[in-house]
Amino acid sequence: LVRLRSRLAKSQSTLGRGLLSLLSRDRLDDDTWEEIEDTLLSADLGVEPTQELVERLRTRARVESLADAEQARSILREELVALVGADMDRRVRTDRHVSENRPAVVLVVGVNGTGKTTTVGKLARVLVAEDRDVVLAAADTFRAAAVDQLTTWGERVGVPTVRGDEGADPASVAFDAVKTGIESEADVVLVDTAGRLQTKANLMDELGKIKRVIERHGPVDEVLLVLDATTGQNGMAQARVFGEVVDVTGIVLTKLDGTAKGGIVVAVQRELGVPVKMVGLGEGADDLAPFDAEEFVDGLLE
Ligand code: GDP
Repeated sequence: LVRLRSRLAKSQSTLGRGLLSLLSRDRLDDDTWEEIEDTLLSADLGVEPTQELVERLRTRARVESLADAEQARSILREELVALVGADMDRRVRTDRHVSENRPAVVLVVGVNGTGKTTTVGKLARVLVAEDRDVVLAAADTFRAAAVDQLTTWGERVGVPTVRGDEGADPASVAFDAVKTGIESEADVVLVDTAGRLQTKANLMDELGKIKRVIERHGPVDEVLLVLDATTGQNGMAQARVFGEVVDVTGIVLTKLDGTAKGGIVVAVQRELGVPVKMVGLGEGADDLAPFDAEEFVDGLLE
C-alpha cells in the first residue's frame, strides 16, 4: 500500500510550511492572521472551517507561545487533526455477508473524468492483495471506452468484469454482476456507474434505479463518491448534487498528488457529513491509499 504521508509531502507541504512560518512570526498581528486565513482559503479549506481554525489558533496564541517553532508545529498539528477528524470511521465496508451467503456491494459514483474507473481498478487490486474474490460491474454502459477500460483493469488485476451490450440498462448490468458475485461466492462486487451530469433528475433516476435493483439481492454496503481534488468549487458543487440524489457513505478524493489544495478534504466532509475514506495519489495501480487524518496532517507539516 502507498504511504499517504510520504506521497503527500511533495504537493501539500507548501501549505503546511507556509502556515508554520506565519504562525511562528515574532509578532502575530492582524495582518499575519489575515495572511494565515488567506493561506487556508487558497488551500480550499472553505470559509467556515477556516474561520473556526483561525479562531482556535488565535485563542491558543494568547496563552501559549507560538514563537517557538516546535510548539507552533505541535499546536497547529493538534488543531488540524481535530479539524480533519481523527475519530471518523473511515473503513470501506467490504466484508462479505457470510450468514446471508452474499458479497458486499460497493457502488462507485461520480462525474466522468474524476477517476472513477481508475479508483475501482485500484480498489480491486487492494482487495485482491488481501486475498479477496472480487467481481467488477461495468454499469457505465453509455461509454464503450469506459467498459473497455474497466475490463482492462479487471484483466490486469485478475478479476472478472460483468458487462452488458453497449447502451444496455446500467441497472440490469449491476443486477447481473451481483448475481454473478452471489453464484461465484465472491467477497465483494464493485459497481462502476455512469457519471453524466446533464440533469439532476436524470442522475437521480439512474443511480436510484441501480441501487433499487441491486437491493433485490440485499442492501448496498457502501456508496463511494469519487471527487477530483483539483477541481475546487466545481468538485464541491458535484458533491452537493450527488449528496442530494444518493446516500453517499464515503468519499474518495482523487488526484491529491497534483494539487496543494488539501483543504478540500475538510470542506467536502462538511458538505456531505461523511468521511473521506480513500485518496488517489497517482495514475498507477498502487496509487490508492486509505485516508488517515494524522498521516494526512503530518504530510502537510513535513
Ligand atoms: P472516470 O471517467 O471518472 O472513470 O475517470 P478515469 O478513471 O478514466 O480517470 C480519468 C483520468 O484521471 C485518467 O487519466 C486517470 O489516469 C487519471 N487519474 C485517476 N485517478 C488519479 C489520481 O489519483 N491521480 C492522478 N494524477 N491521476 C488520476
